[in-house]
Formats: sequence, C-alpha cells, structure tokens
Amino acid sequence: MFVDSHCHLDDEKLKGDIEKVVAEFKAANVGIVIDIGCDAETSEIVKEQAERFNGVYFAAGIHPMDVKDARDADLDKIAELAAHPKCVAIGEIGLDYYWDKTFAEKQKEFFVRQIELASEVKLPINIHIRDAMGDAVEILKGNADKLVSGGVMHCYSGSAETAKELLKLGLYISFGGTVTFKNSRKAQEVAAIVPINRILTETDSPYLAPEPKRGTVNSPKNIPFVVSKLAEIRGTDAGAIETAVYNNTLELFKKIRI
Ligand SMILES: [Zn+2]
Repeated sequence: MFVDSHCHLDDEKLKGDIEKVVAEFKAANVGIVIDIGCDAETSEIVKEQAERFNGVYFAAGIHPMDVKDARDADLDKIAELAAHPKCVAIGEIGLDYYWDKTFAEKQKEFFVRQIELASEVKLPINIHIRDAMGDAVEILKGNADKLVSGGVMHCYSGSAETAKELLKLGLYISFGGTVTFKNSRKAQEVAAIVPINRILTETDSPYLAPEPKRGTVNSPKNIPFVVSKLAEIRGTDAGAIETAVYNNTLELFKKIRI
C-alpha cells in the first residue's frame, strides 16, 4: 500500500472532482492520504473531507504564508481540530521567505507556537520551509525538547548536510515530484542518503506532479512514480520503498488506524 503524506484535496483543482480523485488513488493502491490544512478555514475543510473518505486523514495548521492574516483565534481553532480522531499532525507550519519576507518575525512566532501546540497535543508536525532553512534549523534545534512526537520535512529542498542535522532531531524527510525532475540533483542526493526508516512520500497535490506527469494537475494517484524514482536512486526495488514508507508512516502518525 502506498502513502501520500502531504496533499491538498481542498484545492479548487481537486475539490470538485473529489469522488473521482479518491477512486483513482484507491485504484492505484494509495491507501493512506494526509490532507493538509493551510489556515483555520482550510483545516476545517480537510477535516470534513477526512470524515467523508476511508483512508483520508488530515493535518490542521497555519502555513507560513497564511500567518500574515492569522490571529490568536485561528490557533485556538487549530487546537480544537487537533483533538479530532482523524487529525494526525499539526501542519503545515514553518517559514517561507520566498514570496514575502515582510512578516518574517510573525512567521517565526507562529512556527514556534504551533510547535508548542503539537507538543501539548502529542502530534507530529508537518514542516514547510522555503528559502528560510537557516532560521528553520535554528528554531527546530532551539525547540528540540518539544519535538517528542516527531515531524516531517515536507518536500524537502535543503542540502544533504542540513538533512543530516534534521535527522539528528528525529525528523523524517518526505519526497515528492521534485525528486523525479531531471534538474533536481540536490533532492536526489538527499534521497540517496536518508536512512530507509526515515523516508516518507508525498505529492503536494495539486502541485508538483512527478515525471512523467509533470505539468498536469497532480493527485495522490501519482505516488507510485515517486516510489519508483526513490527505488532507482537508492538501487533497490520499489516494493522495499513501498513497505518502508508504509511502516514509517504508522510509526510517525500514531493516530492512523488501518
Ligand atoms: Zn503543502
């Protein structure tokens, strides 16, 4: 059974066709899908989707870009959603300086407060970092005592050296479509060195469709392409990656019930 540990089924490109999207990924043997919230509102939508479909779980959190307009009441809402039986993580949370760095301080504040929340409710965190790896590593190291329930670097884009530091913190590394792209040598280098018991797979649907589907609307059904590429990079067979990712998923996301 394959796993998509990070996707956005609430996105306009997928939401209207949700029954078809779910039927297609089930037919592709993708049996566990984690639908990720980006603010209080979308976290509520992914909760409703998880309630509707077997095998679909969700994460509640405020994405660094959505921190801009976020208020304390939004964090209260995330805390409330965290108690839901199908809420398996707090996320996505993190830092993103790529589009707009003007509220970097507020991003850091909300990142830390959501790490604290995850520690209180004993859930792992789903981490989004873009163009902010230095600050992110500093925050994660500074809050290492609050990472007892673990976490995953979603769509990891850093170096192999930084990956080693994150692995020391007990974090998992998740790979998606990027690792299949011809020009993504860095992601492939990381994919080669991460211990097999720390690898996860994701699509980040509807974004980042893997080769040979690049440029199309991504959906969890494309996970097997990511798994095949990981197997190729690591010189192993796809079945070994599939099994390891399944076991890692149950180890990290303890609220998943198969
Ligand atoms: Zn995402």
